[in-house]
Amino acid sequence: MSATKELTVGLLIVSDTAAADHATDRAIDTLTAVIAEANAQIHNNAYEWLVEERRIIPDDTEKIQEKIKDWCDNKALSLILTTGGTGFAKRDVTPEAVSELLDKTASGLVHGMLAASLKITPFAIMSRPVAGVRGDTVIVTLPGSPKGAKENLESIIKLLPHACIQAAGGDSRVLHSGGIKKLEKEAGVAPPSGAHDHHSHLHESGGLASDDAVGMTSGCGHHHGGGGHHAPTPRTQQGGELKSNDLTGDVARRHRSSPYPMISVKEAHKLVVENITAPEIVKRKVDANLVGYILAEEVRAKESVPAFRASIVDGYAIVHTDGVGIYPVVGVSHAAPGEIKPLEAGQIARITTGAPLPPGATAVVMVEDTRIAKTTDDGTEELEIEILASGLTELENVREVGSDMKTGDLLLSKGAEITAVGGEIGLLASVGIVEVGVYRKPVVGVLSTGDEIVQHDRAGDLSIGEVRDSNRPTLLAAITARGFEAVDLGIAKDQPGTLEDVLKEALSKVDVIITTGGVSMGEKDLLKPTIERTFNGTIHFGRVAMKPGKPTTFATIPTEGNISRPIFSLPGNPASATVTFHLFVLPALRQLSGFIGEDIHLAKALVTVEEDLVLDPRPEYHRAAIRIDKSGGLVARSTGGQRSSRIGSMEAANALLCLPGLSEVGDKRTRIPRGDKVEALIIGELKVLDV
Ligand code: AMP
Ligand code: MG
Repeated sequence: MSATKELTVGLLIVSDTAAADHATDRAIDTLTAVIAEANAQIHNNAYEWLVEERRIIPDDTEKIQEKIKDWCDNKALSLILTTGGTGFAKRDVTPEAVSELLDKTASGLVHGMLAASLKITPFAIMSRPVAGVRGDTVIVTLPGSPKGAKENLESIIKLLPHACIQAAGGDSRVLHSGGIKKLEKEAGVAPPSGAHDHHSHLHESGGLASDDAVGMTSGCGHHHGGGGHHAPTPRTQQGGELKSNDLTGDVARRHRSSPYPMISVKEAHKLVVENITAPEIVKRKVDANLVGYILAEEVRAKESVPAFRASIVDGYAIVHTDGVGIYPVVGVSHAAPGEIKPLEAGQIARITTGAPLPPGATAVVMVEDTRIAKTTDDGTEELEIEILASGLTELENVREVGSDMKTGDLLLSKGAEITAVGGEIGLLASVGIVEVGVYRKPVVGVLSTGDEIVQHDRAGDLSIGEVRDSNRPTLLAAITARGFEAVDLGIAKDQPGTLEDVLKEALSKVDVIITTGGVSMGEKDLLKPTIERTFNGTIHFGRVAMKPGKPTTFATIPTEGNISRPIFSLPGNPASATVTFHLFVLPALRQLSGFIGEDIHLAKALVTVEEDLVLDPRPEYHRAAIRIDKSGGLVARSTGGQRSSRIGSMEAANALLCLPGLSEVGDKRTRIPRGDKVEALIIGELKVLDV
């Protein structure tokens, strides 16, 4: 259920520090949370904030102005919020950079922010915010400290929709038709005498605890505390107001638009990465079941390979200083264990590939470089052999002890992946390593939810309203195929008690829970409330700007021993469930198994599209079959209708084409023309194009 009007927002973070290392930025999370809270409180559902642009740039006038012009003049965003650069430091230039671009100033907004901040700290007087309008866009500069930015934004955000609608050309007579009282009611603000309540609200940290000085610091947007590492920011406020619907409340009181902030896929990935616990280390035997594990320790060779001087060819072992001539054959060495007679200069011994050299021998002559000189009378045994090769070098055709691998050599580094191709397993086996320390792979439970869902193989026709469960078999197969143990958790009815019981049981059995269904806006959509209210879980995100998969939800539930278990509540629509499994769950499973960095994500490639692809307002993960063409390039063919309910869109798909959302396409293209290249995430095996 979408709101009637979306007010688009750009967040421009101006900070030298954050621009140099994006991980140090907290302003984006902070502002996104304030905006989400504002969305949750919008009364008449007439509009909704939608953060469309986020950028981190250094304290640089030109860069600030360039972004603001683009966002106002080309993108026509409803609101731009800048943070940082509002203090007195030399590098603080944001207000000046913004002022030059304004068509109108909005001193009321500035007063509002200053008045609110002054109630918190006299240092507010050190702030130099500006606000105003350029084109259709309202622009406000906020201080650099996340706490200050939050307090300032909270003090004006309820009034901003009105300003934005008017700035964008909304009819002011219509806007003002009910008088100021009506406007106040719609904005959810009280007249000034009630402002005191609001003040105390400003002090709620909402989990965004900050060590920054209150409000306006020197304002350069640099974050104190260093290290760039901060605790994950919960998206919900424990013990405070929960975002999910209260299940004991009336249906009519449920949210009519999602109270969860719409975040980008990139932000969602970041939240998953931050909230997955460190992998556990276990011992595993070296055998075929080791495939897919990541080594948690470096492994060194316990033995040398070869363990003895071995011949590389079939031929005759010899002392290399002996040259061309006829030699008696004094022994035979086969590739088999056992005693071997020593050899002296002037003697040779027959030897096979891989067999140990007789003590005393220093080279091997290939059988091709020899001729029989004398045999036994019955002709069955060689007595003398003529060596035809001259100039033998020491160890010619010999693998010296430890020449492949010496005892103590590094065999595999910590973090190495054991693959099915055999390389790593063979290496470990070759030096007698029987057990290694690896990261434990998570056990994954899959639960379907919905009163309408029936077992896929239930005999007989469906009654009206029944739907066969296609998500569970699909996900169980995908998990197993990726080398993880999957546990079938069955189907849970849309009843709070049932869901609670099933999840409780699941939490004791599996490391990661995947549910499908029950995360939309319906009153039977119980996942979010159950996670938050029954299990005291934290919902890290509940809405992602993507198609399909918008209501994808990721939460963690605290369990015994201070372990938090991830739960992915995927949308019920089959294509959405499968796409979001690959996009979000798989990287989490890989991270839990010890993969790090980019390795947790699906591999990406550039592919040429074979047909025009129409763009959606949201970034789309378009199911496609990609193949390798004659020239070695990759070509992509859409799997057809991409409706999220159509599981057929996954049939034969081995890639998800990453199509930009309409708003991200600078030149206002509405389609990707055939022949253009797009990024594709690889989810299956590549095949060759059949022409
Ligand atoms: P929900 O997210 O529960 O609102 O479900 C969205 C849509 O997906 C509904 O049409 C459901 O019937 C359908 N759906 C939910 N779960 C499954 C499933 N396990 N298999 C097939 N379709 C499902
Ligand atoms: Mg449902």
